[in-house]
Parts: sequence; structure tokens; C-alpha cells
Amino acid sequence: MQKCDRCQKQAKIFLPYGPLWLCESHFLEFFEKRVRKTINRYKLVKPGEKIAVGVSGGKDSITALHLLKKIFPKGTEIVGVCIDEGIKGYRDKALKVAKGHFEELEVDYTVLKMKKELGFSMTEIAKRLHERKGEQETQGTCSYCGVFRRKMLNDFAVGEKCDKLATGHNLDDEAQTILMNVLQNDFEKFSRLGPITTGGKGFVKRIKPLYETPEKEIIAFTQFQGLKVYSAECCPFSWQAKRNAFRKALDEIAEKYPNAKHSAISFQQKISPFLEKRESQEAMEYCRACGMPSSGIECAACTQLKKLINKK
Ligand code: SF4
Ligand code: ZN
Repeated sequence: MQKCDRCQKQAKIFLPYGPLWLCESHFLEFFEKRVRKTINRYKLVKPGEKIAVGVSGGKDSITALHLLKKIFPKGTEIVGVCIDEGIKGYRDKALKVAKGHFEELEVDYTVLKMKKELGFSMTEIAKRLHERKGEQETQGTCSYCGVFRRKMLNDFAVGEKCDKLATGHNLDDEAQTILMNVLQNDFEKFSRLGPITTGGKGFVKRIKPLYETPEKEIIAFTQFQGLKVYSAECCPFSWQAKRNAFRKALDEIAEKYPNAKHSAISFQQKISPFLEKRESQEAMEYCRACGMPSSGIECAACTQLKKLINKK
């Protein structure tokens, strides 16, 4: 029997980057402590702030919601926000799970429908893209979804006068994004990464309380805690996500070099002071179509929307 490194009980989980064997209770303690540390180290939440938590119903956002509620039981207002992309048989089921958690935790929440807010559901967008150019263009479904979701979440947080917008992004997500941005030479997106964004001028600061938490441990946390999460089916468009290739590559690398994902975020952090300087020097403009702040004359969401409406 493999014993826990902190007590005599049987170990239930192995953390290869430690390396560390932990029993269930020591793992839960370790897990929560690390999230608290992330929040403190990067000053993600200040007392008295209003925090919107983007919840999808999956393991990451449910974990973020539960821990934020536990760590900030009072003095910090927490509200939930869900995006319904209009993907039948997938998001509707996930949102049901999310609602259960909001009710249990007594958290006020809002469900925003993409169709109502932007005029298209993701199912319609995918169909349109497929009809136009077939498989090749269909591959871009997730890029539309990501841009639209980000806009809807930000608009909600601005409208509700929230100080921060928390998401369930974990260590794996962050390391994959770093790798993706480097290998796609996307410096602008790379410069916006990190546990907290700079915000300002119509952009609510986005925070990632699970920034230093590996995905596998989030799965273990929800199981040990008995948290109901939606994991039955993947989004029907997820096979198109570019991210899949990067996830696979990074997981293979981490099998051999267990610190790889941690190293990726440390590297990004080391260069981020130089990037922030660069970002603040960039003049911000306002989108000519929707009036929201943008780094160009038109924001990404309006550019994507136009593409959907205009191109035949
Ligand atoms: Fe949206 Fe793609 Fe995620 Fe589906 S897999 S919810 S289309 S980003
Ligand atoms: Zn133990």
C-alpha cells in the first residue's frame, strides 16, 4: 500500500511534479491551499469586490464557483453567469447542472442566450460555415464561439458593475494557450495571458483562480468532493478545436517532463512585465460598430459577426 506523504493513510493520488503521494483529505487541503495562494499571490480578489463567475457546468467552472464561495463567504458578492450557445443536447444539459450548484450555494445567476444577444446560435453558425466552404471553413467554429462568448461575458460584467470576471481556466488550459500562441506567432494574444488581465476602458478584469491547478487534479477534486459536474458529452463541434492538437502534444511532453506545464506559465510570467509595458503604450480605440473598446477600429466580435452576415 502506498502511503500518503503527510500521514499514515492510504494515498489516493500521485502528483508527479512533486513528486507527492496524498490521501484524500490531505489532497483536498493541498488543493484548496493552492487556490488560496494563487488568489493572494496575484491579488485576484480584493475585499468588497463584486465578482461574476462564468459557469459552463463543467468541472473547472463548478470548482472555481465552489471555492470562491468558500474562500469569500461574505463581504464579496459573487454572481453567476452562463452562456447558452444554443448547442442542443450539450449546453442545455450542462446548464441544468450549473443551475443546481447556483441554487445549492444560493448564488444569483443569469443565463445569456447567444441567439438573443448576437442573432446567431452556435448551431446556426456551424451550419452556415459548413454550407459556405465545407469542412475547411467549419474548422473555425470554435474561434467564433470563443470571441462571442468573451464579448457576452464582458458586456454582462460591465452592465452588472462587476469588478472582476472569474473563469475556470486551469493550468493545462493556460499552458496549451501559451504553446498555441507561440507556435502560431500570435504575440498579441500571448501578451494578454496570465492569471489576471489588465482590464480598463470598458474591459472588466478577468481572473483565473485555477491558473496553477492541473486539470487532472480538478477531476479528482470534484470526485472526492462529490460535486456533480457535466462531463457526459463533449460539444459536437469540439473535434474542430485547434487546441486538441496542442493538448495532446503538451500531455505527451508532460508525461516525460512533469514540470513542463508549470514551466510554461513561469516563462510567460517572467516576460509579462515587459509585455504589460508594451500593452499600456498601445492606444486603445473604440469599435466603430458597437462602441466597445477595441485594439483596432472594429472589435473582434463585430468583425466575426460581419463575416457571418455578409459573406455568401
Ligand atoms: Fe464553442 Fe468550440 Fe467549445 Fe463547442 S467546443 S462550446 S463550439 S468553443
Ligand atoms: Zn494524508
